[in-house]
Parts: sequence; C-alpha cells; structure tokens
Amino acid sequence: MGETETTGPVVRFEHVTKRYGDVAAVDGVSLEIAAGSFVALVGQSGSGKSTLLKTINRLIVPDEGQVMLDGGDVAAQEPHALRRSIGYVFQNIGLFPHMTVAENILIDRRIAGDAAGGGDAGALLDMVELPRAFASRRPTELSGGQAQRVGVARALAGRPGLMLMDEPFGALDPLTRDTLGETYRRLHERLGMTTLMVTHDMAEALLHADRVLVMSHGQVIADDTPDGIMNEPLPEAAQALVAVPRRQAERLVAMERAGRKAQP
Ligand code: ADP
Ligand code: MG
Repeated sequence: MGETETTGPVVRFEHVTKRYGDVAAVDGVSLEIAAGSFVALVGQSGSGKSTLLKTINRLIVPDEGQVMLDGGDVAAQEPHALRRSIGYVFQNIGLFPHMTVAENILIDRRIAGDAAGGGDAGALLDMVELPRAFASRRPTELSGGQAQRVGVARALAGRPGLMLMDEPFGALDPLTRDTLGETYRRLHERLGMTTLMVTHDMAEALLHADRVLVMSHGQVIADDTPDGIMNEPLPEAAQALVAVPRRQAERLVAMERAGRKAQP
C-alpha cells in the first residue's frame, strides 16, 4: 500500500499508580506495548482503564511511576504538543455543531497553526470510509456512527503514531460498531500506528486486538493474545469477562442446530 510511513511508538508503563483518596484507580502497572501493535484494555466499569489510558497523554498525572514513549518520559513533554502528537477518540466525541464536518476534522491542525492542515479533509474522509460530499455537512446531519467516523478522522488529522481510544464505539448499535471496528483495524494496519483501545466488551477486544490486557481494581490481571485469553487458564475476574461472549456464542450455535433439526 506504500502508505506505511508512520510506525507508532513503543509505550511503556513503569510502576504507574494513581490514587483518588483511598482508591488506587491504577495500582502499580508496569508493562510495555510494542510499536505498531493493537492492544485492547478490557475490564469492568471502574477497573481503571480510562485512568491508565489518560496517563499517556497527560490528562492524568500519575502519583507514582512514569509513562515512556519510545523511551522518552511523557512528563518531560509540553502537554499540548504531546496531545497533538497522539490521537484520542472517546465515546460520544464532541463535534462543534456550528462547524462543517471538514472544519471539525481540521480543527486541531488550525489551532496548531498548521497551514497545511495536516492533509485535506477529503483524504481523511476516505480513510474513515465516508463520502467526500460529507465535508460540507453539519454534525446534526450525521448518524451516531458517522459522527464517530468524523471523530476518528479528526484524531487522524495530525498523523499520530499513537491512537488512544476510550470506548470509541460504545454508544453505537452492534452492526455499526462492528463495521467501524473493522474499518479502524484496517487503518491501524495501513498507517502503522500503535493503538491502545479501551473497551468493556471482551468480544470486541478478542476480535480486533493483537493483545488483550484485562484490568481489575487498578491492576492488569491478565495479559495475553486473544488465543491465549480464550484457551489458557485465567484469574477468576478475567475468566468472568470471557464467559459472557463464550456463553452467548454457545447458545446461538445451539439454537442454530436446533433450528436445522426442526426443518429437514
Ligand atoms: P474505567 O474506565 O475502567 O471504568 P476509571 O479509570 O474511570 O475506570 O476509574 C477507576 C476508579 O477511579 C474508579 O473507582 C473511579 O470511581 C475512580 N475515579 C476515576 N476518576 C476519578 C476522579 N476524578 N475522582 C475520584 N475518583 C475517580
Ligand atoms: Mg472508562
């Protein structure tokens, strides 16, 4: 494809801890994420996923430990410059209602005073598989899925090597969510980015990621490939998350078999 010029950074957490009063939202996390990998961060609500993610772009400063990008401590970087170099997509990403889709996509570039605009909006719309004609639309003329695609395009406008996604498709219907997940996975490959995606949906994590981290009470309690997560023994809290999609899949297959028997 010839476009793979960016290779995302290595992300390294070293003893990262963030407390709120007596609660350790993140509790001594140390691990390394390989350049160009797609890692899912899964866990129950309140397990510390968002807090850990935000220590990377300095929306949260850890009480202890540090986060390194390609060996450089993020604490040493100017926060706004750091954030411009990292894509960030979250649930119900806010688009400015009085601006067009194109203006929304290029907003961060304009704030940064980048005359080139980080690539035109048309090319970014292509990337997220939206028609170029959408450039002149307003956010109110978009479906939820289309708005999230625009959010992804905006995050890509700065050509980030690293994408942080926090429940990016969480508010979407299952079909839209699946399609968008696939679109993003292809983009991740094509642009050679490092992606860290928070989701509470274990099935989504297993289907899209190269590696799955399971968080519970601020700690990473499982860390494996999707195949390993499915087939190796896991701590109970992680096992409970895997049991849900597994049970659903088994019930659906059983239903399908029963249906086939009923109609010879
Ligand atoms: P997740 O994203 O996995 O749902 P969070 O990282 O948002 O979890 O939260 C982890 C824990 O930290 C939770 O117990 C949450 O209540 C607590 N927490 C998060 N942010 C704050 C805050 N600003 N003030 C106090 N407690 C917080
Ligand atoms: Mg969260």
